[in-house]
Amino acid sequence: MRLLVATGNAGKLRELRALLGEHGIEVIGLDQFPEIPPVVEDGETFADNARKKALTVSRASQLLTLADDSGLTVKVLGGAPGVHSARFAGPDASDADNNRKLLEELKDCADPDRSAAFICVLALARPDGTCHFYEGRLPGEIIATPRGCDGFGYDPLFFLPQRQCTLAELPLEEKNRISHRGQALEKLLKHLSSLEG
Ligand code: IMP
Repeated sequence: MRLLVATGNAGKLRELRALLGEHGIEVIGLDQFPEIPPVVEDGETFADNARKKALTVSRASQLLTLADDSGLTVKVLGGAPGVHSARFAGPDASDADNNRKLLEELKDCADPDRSAAFICVLALARPDGTCHFYEGRLPGEIIATPRGCDGFGYDPLFFLPQRQCTLAELPLEEKNRISHRGQALEKLLKHLSSLEG
């Protein structure tokens, strides 16, 4: 099976190529299709963005296409940063800028509830316009001081009560096993293997 992965993120492509390759799936990158313009992520939900990317690229390439969208939702912030996770502190925000902004917003908030979740939605689209979704969700809490130096994004502020550590303190292999992305991928793989079997 060949699968086009609609991401401009080289790290994500590398990860997915290794993971799906283990299951006999050949991953093709968008570099094979330089004529396809970048898709603007302007949806209101993770699923909207993943669907838009997967369907647009699948129609243009005429290939089975996988796209993902992910981010952090914080309960007392009404679900923010949500689909704006990557650019929470502004268009060119770094991970450190976004983490600082998150802590500032929480400081101004009287409610002591710091529960949050990482969400990942994968969309698998066919050129005929059909689309399937696979979702993963990792619950946790936002702590007041960053801990750990592995991972990326909001990992140093995302505390896992059952492990008593942040995601940035977990080895990558362990993070991938439990993460929102890992869970969504597992669902995708189950579906793909049922199609083949
Ligand atoms: P995207 O899925 O590449 O659009 O990423 C959205 C943003 O969500 C990232 O830039 C991070 O800020 C955040 N994010 C998504 N997944 C993770 C994760 O596993 N750890 C930390 N931050 C994440």
